[in-house]
Amino acid sequence: MMKEYDVIVVGSGPGGATVAREMSLKRKKVLLIERGGRWNWLGNTLTVAMTLQNYGLTVSKPFPPFTQVTVADNYGGASMLICGCAMPPPKKIFDSVGINLTAETEEARKELWVTKLPDELVGKANMRLMEAANDLGYHWEKVEKFIDVSKCIPECADCMMGCKRDAKWSARFYGDEAIASGAELALHTRIDDVIVENRKAVGVKGSRHGKSVSYYGKRIVLSSGIGNVRILRRAGIQEAGRTFAVDFLQFIGGVSPHINTSKVQPMAVGTLEHYESDGFVILPVFPTWSQLTVLLAMKGLGHVPKALNAFRYTGLMVKIQDDLKGEIHTESSFLPFTKEPSHDDRLKLAKGGEIMKKILRKVGAPDKSIVELNPSGAHPSATCRIGDVVDTKLETSIANLYCCDASVVPSALGLPVVWSVVALGKRLAKHLDKTLT
Ligand SMILES: Cc1cc2nc3c(=O)[nH]c(=O)nc-3n(C[C@H](O)[C@H](O)[C@H](O)COP(=O)(O)OP(=O)(O)OC[C@H]3O[C@@H](n4cnc5c(N)ncnc54)[C@H](O)[C@@H]3O)c2cc1C
Repeated sequence: MMKEYDVIVVGSGPGGATVAREMSLKRKKVLLIERGGRWNWLGNTLTVAMTLQNYGLTVSKPFPPFTQVTVADNYGGASMLICGCAMPPPKKIFDSVGINLTAETEEARKELWVTKLPDELVGKANMRLMEAANDLGYHWEKVEKFIDVSKCIPECADCMMGCKRDAKWSARFYGDEAIASGAELALHTRIDDVIVENRKAVGVKGSRHGKSVSYYGKRIVLSSGIGNVRILRRAGIQEAGRTFAVDFLQFIGGVSPHINTSKVQPMAVGTLEHYESDGFVILPVFPTWSQLTVLLAMKGLGHVPKALNAFRYTGLMVKIQDDLKGEIHTESSFLPFTKEPSHDDRLKLAKGGEIMKKILRKVGAPDKSIVELNPSGAHPSATCRIGDVVDTKLETSIANLYCCDASVVPSALGLPVVWSVVALGKRLAKHLDKTLT
């Protein structure tokens, strides 16, 4: 006799871990499946690369030009590498599909340690950037973060390297809570197919260390991010991934004699003042030395020597709500998509870029020191959109088969995603609980 779970969740990022935790707390039999392993020692480039699909080099085709996106392959998903920037679900986007996440957003606020940091943790360079931007007439302020202030230390910029102090919230905290409440975790297990009987999802199939595995459950939740598309298409849902968003971002850095951002919290200050009117946000963050070297190489090999300034740059990022364009391809995991910035995307990036250059000049960076990296994709999302591939309950056209992660957002958020995905996970768990009792 095969064991039957109440809920099988595929993918342990913020979406999947939330559903697993909520359902386990409700005493449901839960299996959380993750294709990656549990890398515990982050904090250096090599281990970070090990937690990513293609060691971080997942790029679009045809290339060049490259659009690079970061795709997780690890327990906790991409949340292990987040900057810890906490932005609530954008109401307008979810209102457009009739979803109200107010209650779930507030529930998550406490659990995700959302807070604004004291000045000493924000860091002098961020405080100076905020002052410079405000002197220029912009409206910068401290930005909320998923940080436990009691564990965080000043002059540390290692959020994106994985926080060794556990001061930054990641989906592992929810995943581990699910396990403590009875959920089973299957690592190194890649799901390829949904088992469908009488037009209802009843399980999933895949492989673990080269051996075939099958699991049976009453409800199946796909939370494997960009990976949902392949599973859904193999199940016959062909419309998945026919277009999508990546929240294009562009980094611009300059060398100021007074400050640099190499040792301060990323995204601890910034502005959302251009979000409603122009569809972009500006936040201070810059790639680590290794990411910078790769991004400079993508711009052209002649730019690579600029990486010698890696620890002297003051860096800013513009992140936009990009147009739904491009496509996911499921035949290759190295070049799994086509996507490049549209004309409108480029206008938004350019407008944000001009503002960032003004701020860099104001803190003393000469024009000749300014480097503009190529746009890259921040958050692959909106592949299985609400109203298109899933309904407002996040159920697909196959009964009992749901999606819950960044793939379901109805359009580009252009904002950090975690809080939105966690709120969606909490909302889905309430629905699943009702249907299972
Ligand atoms: C460098 C970086 C910094 C970021 N900073 C922030 C930030 O500060 N704040 C913020 O809110 N957001 C941030 N984000 C975005 C955020 O990390 C992601 O949007 C979020 O993790 C998406 O969650 P998810 O649940 O959709 O999926 P993911 O986190 O992508 O998780 C999907 C999981 O599914 C697994 N999987 C895939 N396919 C399969 C399969 N076939 N079988 C089994 N398992 C599978 C993957 O290994 C992965 O663990 C950042 C992202 C990056 C890359």
